Amino acid sequence: MHTSQLPSYISSENLGPWHIFLEQIEQVAPLLDKRLWPWVETLRRPKRSLIVDIPIRLDNGEIAHFEGYRVHHNTSRGPGKGGVRFHQDVTLSEVMALAGWMTIKNAVVNVPFGGAKGGIRVDPRDLSLAELERVTRRYASEISMMIGPDKDIPAPDMNTNAMVMAWMMDTYSMVQGRTVTGVVTGKPLALGGSLGRADATGRGVFVTARQAARKLNLPIAGARVIVQGFGNVGEASARLFAAAGAKVIAIQDVSGTVVNAAGLDVSAIKQHLSDTGSLRGAPDCELIAADDFWTIPCEFLVPAALESQINRHNAQKIAARIIVEGANGPTTPEADAILGERGIVVVPDVLANAGGVTVSYFEWVQDFSSFFWSEEEINQRLEKIMADAFEAIWALADKHRLPLRTAAFVIGCDRVLQARALRGLYP
Ligand code: GLU
Repeated sequence: MHTSQLPSYISSENLGPWHIFLEQIEQVAPLLDKRLWPWVETLRRPKRSLIVDIPIRLDNGEIAHFEGYRVHHNTSRGPGKGGVRFHQDVTLSEVMALAGWMTIKNAVVNVPFGGAKGGIRVDPRDLSLAELERVTRRYASEISMMIGPDKDIPAPDMNTNAMVMAWMMDTYSMVQGRTVTGVVTGKPLALGGSLGRADATGRGVFVTARQAARKLNLPIAGARVIVQGFGNVGEASARLFAAAGAKVIAIQDVSGTVVNAAGLDVSAIKQHLSDTGSLRGAPDCELIAADDFWTIPCEFLVPAALESQINRHNAQKIAARIIVEGANGPTTPEADAILGERGIVVVPDVLANAGGVTVSYFEWVQDFSSFFWSEEEINQRLEKIMADAFEAIWALADKHRLPLRTAAFVIGCDRVLQARALRGLYP
């Protein structure tokens, strides 16, 4: 790895997820068109990274400080685009990696955006709704010089949702003195949000899973599915798999791991989780140890939680035919190698979870034109983009005997670096 090329603000001892992104770039660089090689270094350096202090008054009158980030990894193909994550473990390295994956992802599905990401190092479960609003608004105000409908457009990510986007949109609009709906996506419908956005990432996961299953002659009906993470992505994917006749036999989140070999009732589990905040005690299922989740024999494994969940400790034990990455960066490069040797197909994050940003693109276009589409039209367009991107990646992987991740990175990096090379250097 090229540690000499690390930005000085990232410590080489604790590279975190950025190190995984760099390793993925190293793997793909030699496969790119030679004419693009002089520009590869741009991918190893985020264009700009902002760290902000977020002071807020707590409900008890005290003042608390949180650390926030916004990173533009690359804007060669258009304005920055990517979500905002609220999590107690968020670091600059993680946000840089997530921004890098957005650059590749947006190019893979060919939406006209660069890659960006943001985050706040906060456990939202510790905050009241009013405190969450103050953190969000202060963060939006602190990063306001980085964002804008033609500069960088945030969206939801882990622990953020349409409500958080409404506060961000309002804060930005107040500062601008006019309503700017297109500054964020994933907004409530009443504020220029798009139909289909809430389920879009899960729908994209399901569509790419279905395409992969077709290639392997694996029927979806009756297929066993296990899902890690039951938030926006995991829940929607599980629901769509179940609706297509698959059996969701295990769900894991921070609160526990529940199984039922005959198939879980996804909507009952969702209801139980929203009533109690935990998977424990959900109807018609058994609770098992977290580690045992990975060894469950299944056709589809959908990691839809944090990074590096599939690693050298569990990759050998995984008993799935296809892994469909709903999360960003769930598989380490070491695990990728092991899974490749074992013949397990990995539909990579930059393809599998691109449905969210694809419908974000539709939302942004609808806001600009103030003309809103039907849900049917949105889902049809989404399915076509996802299925076409899948086919292109599968064909390249097949032709050169590459893992799907490498093929996706070749296509993504090629688009980004072609744009970069055409633009040239200023001054
Ligand atoms: N946070 C989502 C992702 O990781 C969506 C980003 C967006 O819609 O801009 O792809």
